[in-house]
Amino acid sequence: DNMFPRPARRRVLTVANQKGGVGKTTSAVNLAAALAMHGLKVLVIDLDPQGNASTALGVEHRSGTPSVYEVLIGEVSLVDAASVSDQSDNLYCVPATIDLAGAEIELVSMVAREARLKEALTTEALDEIDPDYVFIDCPPSLGLLTVNAMVAGDEVLIPIQCEYYALEGLSQLLRNIELVQGHLNPSLYVSTILLTMYDGRTKLADQVTSEVRKHFGETVLRTVIPRSVKVSEAPGYGQTVLTYDPGSRGSMSYLDAAREIAEVGARADQ
Ligand code: ADP
Ligand code: MG
Repeated sequence: DNMFPRPARRRVLTVANQKGGVGKTTSAVNLAAALAMHGLKVLVIDLDPQGNASTALGVEHRSGTPSVYEVLIGEVSLVDAASVSDQSDNLYCVPATIDLAGAEIELVSMVAREARLKEALTTEALDEIDPDYVFIDCPPSLGLLTVNAMVAGDEVLIPIQCEYYALEGLSQLLRNIELVQGHLNPSLYVSTILLTMYDGRTKLADQVTSEVRKHFGETVLRTVIPRSVKVSEAPGYGQTVLTYDPGSRGSMSYLDAAREIAEVGARADQ
């Protein structure tokens, strides 16, 4: 049986790193697809106005489509904004449209502006989909959208690119997580660090890998995602690498990473 174990309770993972291009979206959609293909129900919430997660999941996100923007301003329920992805019946996505670009400013004047997404994610609202996993794909900033994701989530998943300057900005991210922990969401913690875009031909990639492992220990998944052209091609076809090229190294590694995440989730002490 190749089903992944179901978590003891629903896990909401916020995929964050204020650096752009480190693999947040790629990791969110591919981990989500891997879990969905192994029998778990997964919801991806696209919280980046660029809508890259929506694209990769083949979900409509033209301006005006019911999206996470309408959810945040309270016009549409989360369930009504969610569509099932054509890649798996278990995989849902709340898309982001360009309308979200103004939300960072619009939210400032709203009541409970940091908790809009959390409110939308209440148990009743999610009962219809009833996902085992929720991934929230953050924009590349530490603004109000990312704060909403951190307030709504239980866990933070940080993708780190195996590159020069990989750790730059990380302390700022961790400080922000601590602030949210201290004031808005006491149970938030960094559960998972995923090393991405690893290039085995460079010495640097190994240096970054060991530095991150030394610093973060067990939090870092054993699986490292290699740099692979298949991974970057897949979104152009409205797919994740898991459907685009299931046998590729990129696909296999996201599968392994997802299995590690699922195994942690299934432990009772989680
Ligand atoms: P972020 O969401 O953090 O901005 P993305 O996930 O969009 O980052 O990734 C940035 C770019 O790198 C995208 O063009 C993506 O296709 C590419 N990319 C991500 N992961 C890999 C990988 N493992 N191998 C090759 N290209 C990748
Ligand atoms: Mg992104």
